[in-house]
Amino acid sequence: MRLAVLKETKPGESRVAATPETVKKLIALGLDVTVQQGAGLASGLPDADYAAAGATLAPDAAATVAGAAIVFTVRAPEAPLPQGALLIGTLQADAAAAGAFATAGVDACSMELLPRITRAQSMDVLSSQANLAGYRAVIEGAAAFDRGFPMLMTAAGTVPAANVFVMGAGVAGLQAIATARRLGGRVSATDVRPAAKEEIKSLGASFVGYEDEESKAAQTAGGYAKQLSAEFYAKQAEVVAAHIAKQDVVVCTALVQGRKAPTLVTEAMVASMKPGSVIVDIAADAGGNCALTKPGQSYLTDNGVKILGFTNWPGRIPAAASALYARNLLTFLTTFWDKDAKAPKLPPEDDIVQGVTLTRGGAVVHKMFAPAA
Ligand code: NAD
Repeated sequence: MRLAVLKETKPGESRVAATPETVKKLIALGLDVTVQQGAGLASGLPDADYAAAGATLAPDAAATVAGAAIVFTVRAPEAPLPQGALLIGTLQADAAAAGAFATAGVDACSMELLPRITRAQSMDVLSSQANLAGYRAVIEGAAAFDRGFPMLMTAAGTVPAANVFVMGAGVAGLQAIATARRLGGRVSATDVRPAAKEEIKSLGASFVGYEDEESKAAQTAGGYAKQLSAEFYAKQAEVVAAHIAKQDVVVCTALVQGRKAPTLVTEAMVASMKPGSVIVDIAADAGGNCALTKPGQSYLTDNGVKILGFTNWPGRIPAAASALYARNLLTFLTTFWDKDAKAPKLPPEDDIVQGVTLTRGGAVVHKMFAPAA
């Protein structure tokens, strides 16, 4: 059985869905692995390393997927796939895209839809990528900040520690807090989920936020933040506004699943910040937490605040992001692998399988998109 690893085509996508390390393990499962030439280059993984791991290199997408039963990808591929192929990636499909996979006879699994349950942790692409995004956001924020993070006591005088404020303390935010603390910043953070408050404090940051009866129930059963009322957001903004004016670096990571990111930093808040301050908005893929974020861009506001609104933050640390993403996909496949048949076996009733499967046997089956939904 052949597994294909495509070179990504989306502009700026520097990651790859398999590394030489995971290729060896895929081959050990009994698979033949074909990797598109140059697929790993942007992640520092040359073709020769894939060949040394036992993969066959193919010159283009069509040759890579020819005869493949399984296709690994980061983003939804543009190339047509063989009928019956099992496609595994972060496909970000809408109903139309899911319908197109069904029409093409491709069984598509979209890993960003994985349920956030303990059993799924080692295949959780959102967590592995968010963790690195949170780290990278602070590193880029520190590089863009024209002073330093730690308090520097020198014979020529003292440079104060940077005030770093992390908005949203999920996977990315907690890593951002930890990274900013390691660099010596004075770190505070906010979130709406009650559990996040203790997590913020346990990492040595102070909690800044608004809490009321509504926020006590701000977490869904799946662990995500709920969309809250306009009144709540207004109260939260009051608390944040006073705090943000004193911050040097603000790292925005707040998301509400399936919606545009909440606007937490208003134009007026940006105007209140000192020149030289930095806003790093890793929620930019979902529109951004800052009202002035220009997704995909970094720029200086009229009052001298740098806003880093790049998208695809995991792709800004591609070697590490690919290594973790590739292991997530490998774990998914090995978890649902029939050793005797040397083939994938995805029981439709399994909650992980149900969570990620968009299409099966030419039909859309995901509850988000199935006609019955
Ligand atoms: P996310 O990326 O959806 O959101 C990031 C953070 O933004 C969240 O903490 C959210 O509460 C916060 N947020 C939303 N609106 C906000 C607002 N108005 N102000 C401030 N913050 C706001 O979240 P995530 O990082 O994917 O984590 C979601 C949950 O899933 C967490 O509870 C996490 O612990 C849990 N989780 C569980 C597993 C597992 O058990 N397998 C794995 C990963 C994450």
